[in-house]
Amino acid sequence: MPKAWRSEFVLLAGLLAAGLLLGALLGSAGWWLALALLVVLGRHLWQLARLEKWLDSGRQRNPPESWGIWGEVFEHYFRLQKRYYKRKKRLARVIREFRESTAAMPDGSLVLDGDFNILWFNAAAERMLDLSNNRDLGQPIANLVRSPRLSAYLATGEFEQPIVLRSPVDETRSLSVRLIPYGSNQYLALFRDVTRMLRLQAMRRDFVANASHELRSPLTVLSGYIESLAEDPGIGQVWYEPVVEMQRQCRRMSSLVDDLLELSRLETEEPDPDCIEPVDVSALARRIVHEARLQDGDHHRLEIVGLDAARLVGVEHELHSAFANLVLNAIRYSDPGGHVQVSWRLDESGQGVFEVSDDGIGIDEKHLPFITQRFYRVDGARSRSKGGTGLGLAIVKHVLSRHGARLDVSSEPGKGSTFRCLFPAERVAVKATEELARA
Ligand code: ADP
Repeated sequence: MPKAWRSEFVLLAGLLAAGLLLGALLGSAGWWLALALLVVLGRHLWQLARLEKWLDSGRQRNPPESWGIWGEVFEHYFRLQKRYYKRKKRLARVIREFRESTAAMPDGSLVLDGDFNILWFNAAAERMLDLSNNRDLGQPIANLVRSPRLSAYLATGEFEQPIVLRSPVDETRSLSVRLIPYGSNQYLALFRDVTRMLRLQAMRRDFVANASHELRSPLTVLSGYIESLAEDPGIGQVWYEPVVEMQRQCRRMSSLVDDLLELSRLETEEPDPDCIEPVDVSALARRIVHEARLQDGDHHRLEIVGLDAARLVGVEHELHSAFANLVLNAIRYSDPGGHVQVSWRLDESGQGVFEVSDDGIGIDEKHLPFITQRFYRVDGARSRSKGGTGLGLAIVKHVLSRHGARLDVSSEPGKGSTFRCLFPAERVAVKATEELARA
Protein backbone atom coordinates (compact mmCIF):
# COMPACT_ATOMS: atom_id res chain seq x y z
CA MET A 1 0.00 0.00 0.00
CA PRO A 2 1.43 3.47 -0.85
CA LYS A 3 2.88 5.40 2.06
CA ALA A 4 0.36 8.25 1.80
CA TRP A 5 -2.60 5.88 2.17
CA ARG A 6 -0.87 4.05 4.99
CA SER A 7 -0.44 7.25 7.06
CA GLU A 8 -4.07 8.15 6.31
CA PHE A 9 -5.28 4.79 7.72
CA VAL A 10 -2.90 5.09 10.72
CA LEU A 11 -4.40 8.52 11.52
CA LEU A 12 -7.96 7.15 11.22
CA ALA A 13 -7.13 4.09 13.34
CA GLY A 14 -5.33 6.27 15.96
CA LEU A 15 -8.30 8.65 16.28
CA LEU A 16 -10.79 5.76 16.53
CA ALA A 17 -8.57 4.03 19.16
CA ALA A 18 -8.33 7.30 21.15
CA GLY A 19 -12.15 7.63 20.98
CA LEU A 20 -12.60 4.05 22.21
CA LEU A 21 -10.04 4.54 25.02
CA LEU A 22 -11.65 7.79 26.20
CA GLY A 23 -15.07 6.07 26.01
CA ALA A 24 -13.77 3.17 28.16
CA LEU A 25 -12.26 5.58 30.72
CA LEU A 26 -14.94 8.27 30.85
CA GLY A 27 -18.05 6.47 29.49
CA SER A 28 -20.24 7.54 26.47
CA ALA A 29 -17.98 5.65 23.99
CA GLY A 30 -20.40 6.45 21.10
CA TRP A 31 -19.93 10.22 21.56
CA TRP A 32 -16.15 9.90 21.71
CA LEU A 33 -16.13 7.82 18.51
CA ALA A 34 -18.39 10.36 16.80
CA LEU A 35 -16.00 13.11 17.90
CA ALA A 36 -13.04 11.16 16.42
CA LEU A 37 -14.88 10.80 13.05
CA LEU A 38 -15.78 14.49 13.17
CA VAL A 39 -12.08 15.36 13.50
CA VAL A 40 -11.34 13.15 10.41
CA LEU A 41 -14.15 14.78 8.44
CA GLY A 42 -13.03 18.26 9.56
CA ARG A 43 -9.49 17.58 8.33
CA HIS A 44 -10.76 16.49 4.89
CA LEU A 45 -13.05 19.54 4.60
CA TRP A 46 -10.19 21.85 5.62
CA GLN A 47 -7.87 20.29 3.02
CA LEU A 48 -10.61 20.56 0.35
CA ALA A 49 -11.00 24.23 1.20
CA ARG A 50 -7.21 24.74 0.84
CA LEU A 51 -7.24 22.91 -2.51
CA GLU A 52 -10.10 25.03 -3.75
CA LYS A 53 -8.38 28.24 -2.60
CA TRP A 54 -5.11 27.20 -4.25
CA LEU A 55 -6.77 26.33 -7.56
CA ASP A 56 -8.72 29.55 -7.39
CA SER A 57 -5.52 31.57 -6.94
CA GLY A 58 -4.74 30.72 -10.62
CA ARG A 59 -1.18 30.51 -11.92
CA GLN A 60 1.75 28.40 -10.81
CA ARG A 61 2.05 29.03 -7.06
CA ASN A 62 3.54 26.24 -4.98
CA PRO A 63 0.80 24.02 -3.51
CA PRO A 64 -0.07 24.25 0.22
CA GLU A 65 2.10 22.09 2.52
CA SER A 66 0.32 18.91 3.55
CA TRP A 67 0.91 15.30 4.33
CA GLY A 68 -0.84 11.94 3.86
CA ILE A 69 -3.12 11.52 0.87
CA TRP A 70 -3.74 15.28 0.62
CA GLY A 71 -0.01 15.92 0.22
CA GLU A 72 -0.08 13.46 -2.72
CA VAL A 73 -3.16 15.09 -4.24
CA PHE A 74 -1.55 18.57 -4.05
CA GLU A 75 1.72 17.31 -5.55
CA HIS A 76 -0.06 15.43 -8.30
CA TYR A 77 -2.16 18.40 -9.23
CA PHE A 78 0.87 20.66 -9.17
CA ARG A 79 2.74 18.37 -11.58
CA LEU A 80 -0.25 18.26 -13.97
CA GLN A 81 -0.55 22.03 -13.82
CA LYS A 82 3.15 22.47 -14.58
CA ARG A 83 2.91 20.12 -17.58
CA TYR A 84 -0.17 21.96 -18.84
CA TYR A 85 1.53 25.38 -18.62
CA LYS A 86 4.64 24.03 -20.33
CA ARG A 87 2.57 22.68 -23.24
CA LYS A 88 0.59 25.90 -23.46
CA LYS A 89 3.82 27.92 -23.61
CA ARG A 90 5.21 25.68 -26.35
CA LEU A 91 2.01 25.99 -28.40
CA ALA A 92 1.98 29.76 -27.96
CA ARG A 93 5.60 29.86 -29.18
CA VAL A 94 4.75 27.72 -32.24
CA ILE A 95 1.79 29.98 -33.07
CA ARG A 96 3.95 33.11 -32.58
CA GLU A 97 6.67 31.69 -34.83
CA PHE A 98 4.09 30.66 -37.47
CA ARG A 99 2.59 34.16 -37.41
CA GLU A 100 6.00 35.82 -37.57
CA SER A 101 7.13 33.64 -40.49
CA THR A 102 3.89 34.06 -42.46
CA ALA A 103 3.92 37.79 -41.71
CA ALA A 104 7.42 37.95 -43.21
CA MET A 105 6.30 36.03 -46.33
CA PRO A 106 6.01 38.14 -49.48
CA ASP A 107 2.96 36.05 -50.51
CA GLY A 108 -0.46 36.86 -49.15
CA SER A 109 -1.63 33.99 -46.93
CA LEU A 110 -5.16 33.55 -45.61
CA VAL A 111 -6.73 30.82 -43.51
CA LEU A 112 -10.26 30.03 -44.65
CA ASP A 113 -12.93 27.82 -43.10
CA GLY A 114 -14.91 25.17 -44.99
CA ASP A 115 -17.28 27.88 -46.38
CA PHE A 116 -14.31 30.02 -47.52
CA ASN A 117 -14.83 32.61 -44.76
CA ILE A 118 -11.62 34.37 -43.68
CA LEU A 119 -10.30 33.24 -40.29
CA TRP A 120 -6.86 34.86 -40.44
CA PHE A 121 -4.53 36.65 -42.88
CA ASN A 122 -1.00 37.98 -42.90
CA ALA A 123 0.35 41.46 -43.56
CA ALA A 124 1.06 40.73 -47.27
CA ALA A 125 -2.57 39.64 -47.81
CA GLU A 126 -3.70 42.81 -46.02
CA ARG A 127 -1.71 44.91 -48.52
CA MET A 128 -2.46 42.85 -51.64
CA LEU A 129 -6.21 42.56 -51.09
CA ASP A 130 -6.80 45.70 -49.02
CA LEU A 131 -8.12 43.71 -46.05
CA SER A 132 -8.69 44.96 -42.53
CA ASN A 133 -8.78 42.84 -39.39
CA ASN A 134 -11.80 44.55 -37.85
CA ARG A 135 -13.85 44.68 -41.00
CA ASP A 136 -13.06 41.52 -42.94
CA LEU A 137 -12.47 38.63 -40.53
CA GLY A 138 -15.32 36.13 -40.85
CA GLN A 139 -16.32 37.46 -44.31
CA PRO A 140 -16.48 35.12 -47.35
CA ILE A 141 -13.35 35.65 -49.48
CA ALA A 142 -15.43 35.84 -52.68
CA ASN A 143 -17.21 38.96 -51.26
CA LEU A 144 -13.91 40.75 -50.73
CA VAL A 145 -12.05 39.64 -53.86
CA ARG A 146 -14.75 40.09 -56.45
CA SER A 147 -13.86 37.96 -59.45
CA PRO A 148 -16.04 35.52 -61.41
CA ARG A 149 -12.92 33.42 -61.96
CA LEU A 150 -12.32 33.08 -58.21
CA SER A 151 -15.99 32.22 -57.56
CA ALA A 152 -15.85 29.54 -60.27
CA TYR A 153 -12.57 28.21 -58.79
CA LEU A 154 -14.11 27.93 -55.31
CA ALA A 155 -17.23 26.28 -56.74
CA THR A 156 -15.28 23.55 -58.55
CA GLY A 157 -13.48 22.33 -55.41
CA GLU A 158 -10.50 21.43 -57.65
CA PHE A 159 -7.49 23.25 -56.22
CA GLU A 160 -4.59 21.32 -57.81
CA GLN A 161 -3.70 24.19 -60.15
CA PRO A 162 -3.52 27.90 -59.31
CA ILE A 163 -5.59 30.49 -61.18
CA VAL A 164 -4.58 34.02 -62.15
CA LEU A 165 -6.73 37.05 -61.29
CA ARG A 166 -6.49 40.78 -61.77
CA SER A 167 -5.52 42.42 -58.48
CA PRO A 168 -8.54 43.98 -56.70
CA VAL A 169 -6.29 46.87 -55.59
CA ASP A 170 -4.36 47.62 -58.78
CA GLU A 171 -5.84 46.78 -62.20
CA THR A 172 -2.40 46.54 -63.78
CA ARG A 173 -1.21 43.73 -61.53
CA SER A 174 -1.97 40.01 -61.69
CA LEU A 175 -2.22 37.63 -58.76
CA SER A 176 -1.99 33.87 -58.83
CA VAL A 177 -4.21 32.14 -56.27
CA ARG A 178 -3.96 28.63 -54.95
CA LEU A 179 -5.98 26.95 -52.19
CA ILE A 180 -4.39 24.21 -50.11
CA PRO A 181 -6.84 22.11 -48.08
CA TYR A 182 -5.60 21.07 -44.63
CA GLY A 183 -6.87 19.90 -41.22
CA SER A 184 -10.58 19.33 -40.91
CA ASN A 185 -12.19 21.39 -43.63
CA GLN A 186 -9.88 24.41 -43.65
CA TYR A 187 -7.90 26.00 -46.45
CA LEU A 188 -4.71 27.98 -46.76
CA ALA A 189 -5.13 30.48 -49.61
CA LEU A 190 -1.90 31.74 -51.15
CA PHE A 191 -1.90 34.92 -53.26
CA ARG A 192 1.28 35.67 -55.25
CA ASP A 193 2.01 38.70 -57.40
CA VAL A 194 2.90 37.21 -60.81
CA THR A 195 2.82 40.46 -62.81
CA ARG A 196 6.54 40.43 -63.58
CA MET A 197 6.58 36.74 -64.51
CA LEU A 198 3.58 37.17 -66.85
CA ARG A 199 5.19 40.23 -68.47
CA LEU A 200 8.40 38.27 -69.08
CA GLN A 201 6.42 35.37 -70.53
CA ALA A 202 4.51 37.75 -72.79
CA MET A 203 7.80 39.36 -73.90
CA ARG A 204 9.25 35.94 -74.71
CA ARG A 205 6.15 34.95 -76.66
CA ASP A 206 6.10 38.25 -78.55
CA PHE A 207 9.77 37.91 -79.38
CA VAL A 208 9.35 34.38 -80.76
CA ALA A 209 6.25 35.41 -82.72
CA ASN A 210 7.94 38.52 -84.16
CA ALA A 211 11.18 36.72 -84.99
CA SER A 212 9.28 33.88 -86.71
CA HIS A 213 7.16 36.38 -88.59
CA GLU A 214 10.22 38.34 -89.75
CA LEU A 215 11.94 35.13 -90.89
CA ARG A 216 9.02 34.09 -93.01
CA SER A 217 9.40 36.59 -95.89
CA PRO A 218 13.16 36.06 -96.57
CA LEU A 219 12.60 32.32 -96.31
CA THR A 220 9.81 32.43 -98.89
CA VAL A 221 12.08 34.32 -101.29
CA LEU A 222 15.00 31.92 -100.72
CA SER A 223 12.76 28.87 -101.10
CA GLY A 224 11.39 30.26 -104.37
CA TYR A 225 14.87 30.70 -105.88
CA ILE A 226 16.08 27.33 -104.62
CA GLU A 227 13.00 25.55 -106.01
CA SER A 228 13.67 27.17 -109.41
CA LEU A 229 17.34 26.24 -109.25
CA ALA A 230 16.53 22.64 -108.35
CA GLU A 231 14.26 22.35 -111.36
CA ASP A 232 16.80 23.97 -113.70
CA PRO A 233 18.60 21.25 -115.73
CA GLY A 234 21.39 23.74 -116.47
CA ILE A 235 22.84 23.78 -112.90
CA GLY A 236 25.03 20.77 -113.66
CA GLN A 237 25.95 17.67 -111.67
CA VAL A 238 28.28 19.47 -109.23
CA TRP A 239 25.59 21.81 -107.93
CA TYR A 240 22.66 19.41 -108.08
CA GLU A 241 23.28 17.70 -104.70
CA PRO A 242 23.98 20.95 -102.73
CA VAL A 243 20.87 22.62 -104.21
CA VAL A 244 18.65 19.66 -103.26
CA GLU A 245 20.11 19.79 -99.74
CA MET A 246 19.47 23.56 -99.60
CA GLN A 247 15.90 22.89 -100.69
CA ARG A 248 15.48 20.29 -97.94
CA GLN A 249 16.86 22.64 -95.28
CA CYS A 250 14.67 25.50 -96.51
CA ARG A 251 11.60 23.26 -96.18
CA ARG A 252 12.69 22.33 -92.64
CA MET A 253 13.11 25.99 -91.74
CA SER A 254 9.68 26.82 -93.17
CA SER A 255 8.08 24.03 -91.12
CA LEU A 256 9.89 25.30 -88.03
CA VAL A 257 8.71 28.88 -88.60
CA ASP A 258 5.15 27.65 -89.29
CA ASP A 259 5.13 25.56 -86.09
CA LEU A 260 6.59 28.41 -84.02
CA LEU A 261 3.93 30.79 -85.32
CA GLU A 262 1.19 28.22 -84.70
CA LEU A 263 2.42 27.63 -81.15
CA SER A 264 2.68 31.32 -80.35
CA ARG A 265 -0.84 31.88 -81.73
CA LEU A 266 -2.16 29.05 -79.55
CA GLU A 267 -0.40 30.53 -76.53
CA THR A 268 -1.42 34.14 -77.00
CA GLU A 269 -4.82 34.19 -78.64
CA GLU A 270 -8.11 33.07 -77.17
CA PRO A 271 -10.08 30.80 -79.54
CA ASP A 272 -12.27 32.87 -81.86
CA PRO A 273 -15.89 32.21 -80.73
CA ASP A 274 -17.03 32.35 -84.37
CA CYS A 275 -14.76 29.41 -85.18
CA ILE A 276 -16.11 27.17 -82.41
CA GLU A 277 -18.56 24.77 -84.01
CA PRO A 278 -19.55 21.10 -84.01
CA VAL A 279 -16.76 19.49 -86.02
CA ASP A 280 -17.38 16.38 -88.11
CA VAL A 281 -14.40 14.42 -86.76
CA SER A 282 -14.88 11.43 -89.07
CA ALA A 283 -14.66 13.65 -92.18
CA LEU A 284 -11.67 15.42 -90.65
CA ALA A 285 -9.94 12.09 -89.92
CA ARG A 286 -10.53 10.90 -93.51
CA ARG A 287 -9.06 14.14 -94.86
CA ILE A 288 -6.00 13.90 -92.60
CA VAL A 289 -5.35 10.28 -93.58
CA HIS A 290 -5.69 11.20 -97.26
CA GLU A 291 -3.21 14.10 -96.89
CA ALA A 292 -0.81 11.88 -94.91
CA ARG A 293 -0.93 9.18 -97.62
CA LEU A 294 -0.02 11.78 -100.26
CA GLN A 295 2.87 13.02 -98.13
CA ASP A 296 4.05 9.52 -97.25
CA GLY A 297 3.95 8.20 -100.82
CA ASP A 298 2.41 4.90 -99.73
CA HIS A 299 5.41 3.79 -97.71
CA HIS A 300 3.16 2.91 -94.75
CA ARG A 301 -0.21 1.23 -94.41
CA LEU A 302 -2.59 3.89 -93.09
CA GLU A 303 -5.93 2.54 -91.98
CA ILE A 304 -9.09 4.02 -90.49
CA VAL A 305 -10.40 1.43 -88.05
CA GLY A 306 -13.64 3.01 -86.90
CA LEU A 307 -15.25 6.39 -87.05
CA ASP A 308 -18.17 7.41 -84.87
CA ALA A 309 -20.69 9.86 -86.26
CA ALA A 310 -20.40 11.98 -83.10
CA ARG A 311 -19.32 15.56 -83.56
CA LEU A 312 -16.92 17.49 -81.41
CA VAL A 313 -17.45 21.10 -80.41
CA GLY A 314 -14.21 22.91 -81.17
CA VAL A 315 -12.08 24.83 -83.65
CA GLU A 316 -11.68 22.71 -86.77
CA HIS A 317 -8.32 24.04 -88.00
CA GLU A 318 -6.79 23.55 -84.53
CA LEU A 319 -8.08 19.97 -84.31
CA HIS A 320 -6.77 19.37 -87.84
CA SER A 321 -3.32 20.57 -86.79
CA ALA A 322 -3.24 18.39 -83.63
CA PHE A 323 -4.57 15.20 -85.25
CA ALA A 324 -2.37 15.60 -88.36
CA ASN A 325 0.70 15.98 -86.11
CA LEU A 326 -0.13 12.67 -84.41
CA VAL A 327 -0.64 10.86 -87.74
CA LEU A 328 2.58 12.30 -89.23
CA ASN A 329 4.51 11.33 -86.09
CA ALA A 330 3.16 7.77 -86.35
CA ILE A 331 4.56 7.63 -89.92
CA ARG A 332 7.80 9.40 -88.99
CA TYR A 333 8.60 7.05 -86.13
CA SER A 334 7.79 3.73 -87.80
CA ASP A 335 9.76 2.02 -90.51
CA PRO A 336 8.53 1.72 -94.12
CA GLY A 337 5.83 -0.93 -94.34
CA GLY A 338 4.63 0.03 -90.85
CA HIS A 339 0.97 0.01 -89.94
CA VAL A 340 -0.82 3.13 -88.64
CA GLN A 341 -4.40 2.98 -87.35
CA VAL A 342 -6.70 5.95 -86.78
CA SER A 343 -10.03 5.89 -84.97
CA TRP A 344 -12.65 8.19 -83.46
CA ARG A 345 -15.10 6.71 -80.95
CA LEU A 346 -17.01 7.36 -77.76
CA ASP A 347 -16.02 5.34 -74.68
CA GLU A 348 -18.40 3.96 -72.01
CA SER A 349 -18.39 7.24 -70.09
CA GLY A 350 -19.26 9.28 -73.20
CA GLN A 351 -15.76 10.73 -73.64
CA GLY A 352 -14.64 11.28 -77.24
CA VAL A 353 -11.45 9.38 -78.06
CA PHE A 354 -9.36 10.21 -81.12
CA GLU A 355 -6.69 7.52 -81.31
CA VAL A 356 -3.62 7.07 -83.47
CA SER A 357 -1.58 3.91 -83.01
CA ASP A 358 1.48 2.62 -84.80
CA ASP A 359 3.77 -0.40 -84.69
CA GLY A 360 6.88 1.76 -84.91
CA ILE A 361 9.96 2.36 -82.77
CA GLY A 362 7.99 3.20 -79.61
CA ILE A 363 9.15 5.43 -76.73
CA ASP A 364 10.91 4.40 -73.56
CA GLU A 365 8.79 5.06 -70.47
CA LYS A 366 11.34 7.48 -69.01
CA HIS A 367 10.82 9.92 -71.92
CA LEU A 368 7.01 9.93 -71.79
CA PRO A 369 6.61 12.77 -69.23
CA PHE A 370 8.70 15.10 -71.42
CA ILE A 371 7.68 14.45 -75.03
CA THR A 372 5.15 17.30 -75.09
CA GLN A 373 7.83 19.84 -74.13
CA ARG A 374 9.07 22.06 -76.94
CA PHE A 375 12.09 20.68 -78.78
CA TYR A 376 12.22 17.54 -76.66
CA ARG A 377 13.22 14.67 -78.93
CA VAL A 378 13.98 11.10 -77.98
CA ASP A 379 16.13 10.65 -81.08
CA GLY A 380 17.07 14.10 -82.40
CA ALA A 381 18.82 12.83 -85.52
CA ARG A 382 15.83 10.73 -86.63
CA SER A 383 13.40 13.55 -85.91
CA ARG A 384 15.45 16.06 -87.97
CA SER A 385 16.10 13.67 -90.84
CA LYS A 386 12.36 12.97 -91.09
CA GLY A 387 11.46 16.67 -91.09
CA GLY A 388 10.38 16.89 -87.41
CA THR A 389 10.48 20.32 -85.78
CA GLY A 390 10.32 19.15 -82.16
CA LEU A 391 7.16 21.23 -81.70
CA GLY A 392 4.45 18.82 -82.91
CA LEU A 393 3.39 17.40 -79.56
CA ALA A 394 3.65 20.82 -77.87
CA ILE A 395 1.07 22.02 -80.42
CA VAL A 396 -1.08 18.92 -79.74
CA LYS A 397 -0.96 19.59 -75.99
CA HIS A 398 -2.01 23.23 -76.41
CA VAL A 399 -4.84 22.43 -78.78
CA LEU A 400 -6.15 19.73 -76.45
CA SER A 401 -6.00 21.98 -73.41
CA ARG A 402 -7.99 24.64 -75.36
CA HIS A 403 -10.61 21.93 -75.93
CA GLY A 404 -10.70 20.79 -72.30
CA ALA A 405 -9.09 17.53 -73.41
CA ARG A 406 -5.97 15.63 -72.43
CA LEU A 407 -3.41 13.42 -74.13
CA ASP A 408 -2.85 9.84 -73.03
CA VAL A 409 0.19 8.02 -74.40
CA SER A 410 1.07 4.37 -74.07
CA SER A 411 4.14 3.02 -75.76
CA GLU A 412 6.61 0.18 -75.76
CA PRO A 413 10.05 0.46 -77.36
CA GLY A 414 10.26 -1.72 -80.47
CA LYS A 415 6.51 -2.47 -80.42
CA GLY A 416 4.79 0.85 -81.13
CA SER A 417 2.84 3.70 -79.60
CA THR A 418 -0.76 4.73 -79.07
CA PHE A 419 -1.67 8.40 -78.69
CA ARG A 420 -5.19 9.05 -77.39
CA CYS A 421 -6.85 12.46 -77.27
CA LEU A 422 -9.58 12.30 -74.62
CA PHE A 423 -12.35 14.89 -75.00
CA PRO A 424 -14.90 15.49 -72.19
CA ALA A 425 -18.41 14.18 -72.82
CA GLU A 426 -19.85 17.75 -72.71
CA ARG A 427 -17.92 18.58 -75.89
CA VAL A 428 -19.05 15.53 -77.76
CA ALA A 429 -22.59 14.95 -78.90
CA VAL A 430 -24.47 12.79 -81.27
CA LYS A 431 -27.09 15.54 -81.58
CA ALA A 432 -27.92 17.27 -84.82
CA THR A 433 -25.49 19.97 -85.88
CA GLU A 434 -27.95 22.85 -85.43
CA GLU A 435 -28.85 21.69 -81.95
CA LEU A 436 -25.18 21.59 -80.99
CA ALA A 437 -24.49 24.98 -82.52
CA ARG A 438 -27.32 26.45 -80.45
CA ALA A 439 -25.91 24.77 -77.30
P1 ADP B 1 9.15 15.97 -83.64
O1 ADP B 1 8.92 17.06 -84.60
O2 ADP B 1 10.58 15.76 -83.29
O3 ADP B 1 8.45 14.71 -84.06
P2 ADP B 1 7.18 16.07 -81.55
O4 ADP B 1 6.92 17.14 -80.56
O5 ADP B 1 6.10 15.77 -82.53
O6 ADP B 1 8.52 16.48 -82.28
O7 ADP B 1 7.54 14.74 -80.78
C1 ADP B 1 8.51 14.79 -79.76
C2 ADP B 1 9.28 13.49 -79.70
O8 ADP B 1 8.41 12.42 -79.28
C3 ADP B 1 9.80 13.04 -81.05
O9 ADP B 1 11.05 13.63 -81.33
C4 ADP B 1 9.90 11.54 -80.89
O10 ADP B 1 11.10 11.21 -80.27
C5 ADP B 1 8.76 11.22 -79.92
N1 ADP B 1 7.57 10.70 -80.62
C6 ADP B 1 6.47 11.40 -80.99
N2 ADP B 1 5.56 10.60 -81.59
C7 ADP B 1 6.11 9.37 -81.62
C8 ADP B 1 5.65 8.08 -82.09
N3 ADP B 1 4.46 7.92 -82.67
N4 ADP B 1 6.49 7.04 -81.93
C9 ADP B 1 7.69 7.17 -81.35
N5 ADP B 1 8.17 8.35 -80.86
C10 ADP B 1 7.39 9.42 -80.99
